[in-house]
Amino acid sequence: MRQRLVMGNWKMNGNLRSNSDLLSAIARAEPESAQVVVCPPFPYLAQAQSVLSNTPIQWGAQDISLYEKGAYTGEVSVGMLNDFACQWVIVGHSERRAYHAETSDTVAAKAKIALQHGLTPVVCVGELLSEREEGRTLSVIEAQLSPVLALGTEVVKALVIAYEPVWAIGTGLTATPEQAQEVHAFIRQLLSRIGAEQVRIVYGGSVKANNASRLFSMPDIDGALVGGAALDAKEFLAIVAA
Ligand code: PEP
Repeated sequence: MRQRLVMGNWKMNGNLRSNSDLLSAIARAEPESAQVVVCPPFPYLAQAQSVLSNTPIQWGAQDISLYEKGAYTGEVSVGMLNDFACQWVIVGHSERRAYHAETSDTVAAKAKIALQHGLTPVVCVGELLSEREEGRTLSVIEAQLSPVLALGTEVVKALVIAYEPVWAIGTGLTATPEQAQEVHAFIRQLLSRIGAEQVRIVYGGSVKANNASRLFSMPDIDGALVGGAALDAKEFLAIVAA
């Protein structure tokens, strides 16, 4: 049985005051069976830790440095995330790939360093609209995942994959459950080639309370990575309930 996972990616939003309301509301949630994680910006990890410790809700970061320490201005290391008891980290979000030129090799290296230090990486993959229209969705996903799968079965078994079609992120355009399922089934097939078919694959891209249930009814969709809707406690908790 693959445990459901709902993860909120706050991106570069929030402040101490608004986070306090959001975290307190989420902290009161009693998720029955799903694992629930919130990923605030780095400066607010201590705040998340303080509000969410001793609740079933976990917290994580939105990125991680490739390096353990040193002259890497602006970077945040895995050890620093450990200091704030993060258990999760998003790697390879399409916004990192697009605005920070992260390659799939970099993403795989980030996943590896996270796992070496006890964090669970959520590796994001997804095609552009033009790539979908050219019929290249599956080959793009395979290429993005290739360096990750090359890390080996034992490593891959410990991570989570998020399928996030770039055209659906923050656009209000959600992949239909059937479109998402097709890609999730393909990813599971790639995973099964190395004996890692039990890895969780979550969907991301304009997930809302009103479309979550249909997405979650698909056999290979194990939860969601939620952006915009994660900033509204009621909406986020409705997704968790779904
Ligand atoms: C995301 O940022 O990972 C995301 C899926 O955003 P949204 O839910 O806003 O589309």
